Amino acid sequence: MKNKIYSRRSFVKQNSLAGLAITTGVPLVHLRSQSQQPALLGGQPMIKHDWPSWPIWNQETDEKRLLEVIRSGVWSRAKVVEEFEEKWAKAIGSKRCLAVINGTNALNTTLAQLEIGWGDEVLVTPYTFIASVSSIMFNGAIPVFVDVDPETFQMDPKKIEAKITPHTRAILAVHILGLPCDMRSIMEIAARHNLEVIEDACQSWLAEIDHQKVGTFGHAGCFSFQNSKNIPMGEGGAIVSDDDAFMDRCFSFHNYGNPYGSMAGAVSAGTVMVGTKLRLTEYQAAIGLAQMARLEDQTEIRNKNANLLSSKLKQIPGILPYRLYGNVTRASYHLFPFRYQKQQFNDLSRDRFIAALSAEGIPCYQGYSPLNKMPYLKNAFTSKFFKKFYPANRLNYQKYAEENECPLNDHLCNEEAVWLPQNVLLGSEMDMHQIANAIEKIHLNAEKLR
Ligand SMILES: *Cc1c(COP(=O)(O)O)cnc(C)c1O
Repeated sequence: MKNKIYSRRSFVKQNSLAGLAITTGVPLVHLRSQSQQPALLGGQPMIKHDWPSWPIWNQETDEKRLLEVIRSGVWSRAKVVEEFEEKWAKAIGSKRCLAVINGTNALNTTLAQLEIGWGDEVLVTPYTFIASVSSIMFNGAIPVFVDVDPETFQMDPKKIEAKITPHTRAILAVHILGLPCDMRSIMEIAARHNLEVIEDACQSWLAEIDHQKVGTFGHAGCFSFQNSKNIPMGEGGAIVSDDDAFMDRCFSFHNYGNPYGSMAGAVSAGTVMVGTKLRLTEYQAAIGLAQMARLEDQTEIRNKNANLLSSKLKQIPGILPYRLYGNVTRASYHLFPFRYQKQQFNDLSRDRFIAALSAEGIPCYQGYSPLNKMPYLKNAFTSKFFKKFYPANRLNYQKYAEENECPLNDHLCNEEAVWLPQNVLLGSEMDMHQIANAIEKIHLNAEKLR
């Protein structure tokens, strides 16, 4: 499959045909939006070019690395994986890094090696990908949901302490959508209550709080390199930490329980713990190294475009872009989220808004459904397995469901959230103006679009 290269030239051509003052570099504002017919009703879409396709790779450099691995005949974990780990630890500013098969198992392994499991409760946001929560239950612990701050889309630290019980062992701090959560507050609360902090940074590569990378605040940070992620390698994940003993255990666990330092793949090497096998291949690491080389520049572009787009969207009534916490010095923007308030759009439903924006050539989604309301929870609570390990009074699902209500998250998921995917933020500055213009056009035509 050939990688589709985003052609700026064709973009410029299309837009100069539309009569835009593109050469002047003057931002396009309120471009006759009123008089334009929404694309959903047969008008011209605001964006006519393709967005950068994903993943992006360079045929020369990236494919060379991969070929080298194939031709070496060394395909199982060896030097290339080690190189990736060294470089990722350095990029994040962590002492150690262990590559694993995916972000889900980075989380599973981290919780297991911190001995968080049966009997324990772990605090987590309901606004995340399922793997954050399943890693808790996979280890036998019970997730306790802390409602979100809808302005930031993150776990609201002000609501954490009310959820702490004698069973609470840890806070799983998720930097969801690539926006850092309020780590300073979370670390303070954790210290006060003697809780472990694990960071799910599976959407937050190179994001920073006060110039420190996320993933390095808690005991350990977990990353994903799945194909849709900002540093894609098909499948892949990593754990970072400064705790050597913990990282040695993680290594051993991911390699059948063999002692760390033994040759990869060695059989009967004096197994020290019950482990499993989660080793990354050399192919994946080769792709990861090639991707890592462009992550820094792409992250810069996403930050620049997100700041611009956010400043434009704030001016449109009923469009509320995410708020970053004050000490965030950089975000990853795996997604660009905003809240859509239909009251300001003549009661145009969010579904209809999303259809209208998509028709304008701008990919967008409504995003997550509430994770605290899905059948997996009740199924676990009523399973033979959970009944073996928990007394009946801790498996009262009705009571659990009530205690884990997160009304603000429900509203965010069911009514307001809209996401733009990360590749949109790799577009041009002009694209950001056009996205704002498209939303403005929908706003002005909301009545017609209903
Ligand atoms: C992608 C993701 C994971 C899981 O990573 P995989 O590599 O897909 O297993 C975990 N948490 C969050 C927040 C994610 O976005």
